[in-house]
Amino acid sequence: MATLYWFRRDLRVADNPALVSAGSEVYPVVLSGSLEGLSQVRIDSLTASWRSLSSQLSDSLGLVDDLVATAKNLGVSAVHCSRAFDPVGIADQLEVQRGLDEAGIKFVVGPGNYAVSPGVVRKPDGTPYRVYTPFFKAWFANGWSNPLPAPAGVTWLKTGEDLPSGPEVRVGESFAKETFANFQRRALEGYNEDRNRADLSGTSHLSHALAHGEIHPRTLLAELGDSEGEVTFMKELAWREFYADVLLHNPHTVDGYYEPRFAKMRYDEAPGKLEAWQQGKTGYPMVDAGMRQLLATGWMHNRVRMIVASFLVKDLHIEWQHGARWFEQHLTDFDVASNSHGWQWTAGCGTDASPYYRIFNPITQGYKFDPNGDYVRKFVPELRGIPGKEVHEPWLLISSLAPNYPAPIVDHAVEREESLARLEELKTL
Ligand SMILES: Cc1cc2nc3c(=O)[nH]c(=O)nc-3n(C[C@H](O)[C@H](O)[C@H](O)COP(=O)(O)OP(=O)(O)OC[C@H]3O[C@@H](n4cnc5c(N)ncnc54)[C@H](O)[C@@H]3O)c2cc1C
Repeated sequence: MATLYWFRRDLRVADNPALVSAGSEVYPVVLSGSLEGLSQVRIDSLTASWRSLSSQLSDSLGLVDDLVATAKNLGVSAVHCSRAFDPVGIADQLEVQRGLDEAGIKFVVGPGNYAVSPGVVRKPDGTPYRVYTPFFKAWFANGWSNPLPAPAGVTWLKTGEDLPSGPEVRVGESFAKETFANFQRRALEGYNEDRNRADLSGTSHLSHALAHGEIHPRTLLAELGDSEGEVTFMKELAWREFYADVLLHNPHTVDGYYEPRFAKMRYDEAPGKLEAWQQGKTGYPMVDAGMRQLLATGWMHNRVRMIVASFLVKDLHIEWQHGARWFEQHLTDFDVASNSHGWQWTAGCGTDASPYYRIFNPITQGYKFDPNGDYVRKFVPELRGIPGKEVHEPWLLISSLAPNYPAPIVDHAVEREESLARLEELKTL
């Protein structure tokens, strides 16, 4: 008897244990509601991922509104999917479970998209880890199984609406494998050094693929050895797993404070400044380049994510959740755990948080991680008339070199002091 397979954030065929267990006659579907509120760049990348997956499933991936109703109409024996660990995913799967129970249809939830499932690694006293390094050691000691091959001999059956059409974006399972192979040749050796440089392509660019499950982290880990670059890369993959574990144990931290005392801090409601930040018009070149990279491409370099996040919270005094929501709309690699905890780390209120008084200087960070200014010029056309590293402080030059670029909306030195004063204030509450 046929089954229904609900693809969510496991958009791949290989190394997908939940899919293997779905049987040999399968209706593959995705839910249509998942596009609401997203930027066009994000919609284009997600729907391209669906189309790419569908091409591996005899073009049978269908869009459905209601999973339980579809399962009933088709008369399938079971609905299969891989386990979600984030609060929304868990709630969605519980609701489907209830509906299917009432209809007498089996719901089979297989393993998810982590080398070690969130919740498995615990401290010796049984409590979850709150700090990354000991988590990493225990995660590594736990180990993971080998990748599984794709299921063979499956007949894919079509149900639901056709997938939305859209521009061709290079995504999908085989592109993820190609991206990893290129990264292994191109940058893995120098990853330890170059991954912080915004102007170099020193990172893997696998985040969209990992966030959508186009590749399982186990498939990547299976190919890593013990060189410096490979170990550092493994540690980055483990950050993703750590944050998923932290979110599982602290579901309120999607938009609530991991360190609750920071909820009492004095923040500003500043819609004009928030908009300048969102549109990349703060007058700080490194911040603006990052925010424009996000708008144009749906991705931003990790170092620059930290710079723009610190700027929002500590130079504009706006709560991190405003920034996290903007990232959610625009990041094609959006992952709720990595995003909320990436923000909280930078804002000083998360796990292992960079202490609140560590305030990124958007100018010196520019000189350090974009030493020739190439990254800024790439994403901020108004600054292309300024050669070299001087692009990081355009206000020191005659204004005719960048006539259309805004003046800084705040003075970093002044706002830094203001942030520290608010921290002192918090200590007295
Ligand atoms: C404010 C903020 C928000 C972020 N939001 C997201 C998000 O929504 N989705 C997301 O995948 N990452 C997020 N990150 C983490 C990181 O910036 C991206 O994973 C990384 O830039 C992706 O590029 P890459 O694939 O080339 O990374 P690589 O350097 O090649 O790393 C390989 C993989 O490891 C994982 N990884 C690397 N660094 C981190 C990290 N600090 N935290 C968690 N996982 C990590 C990612 O899956 C990444 O694809 C955020 C970081 C910050 C500071």
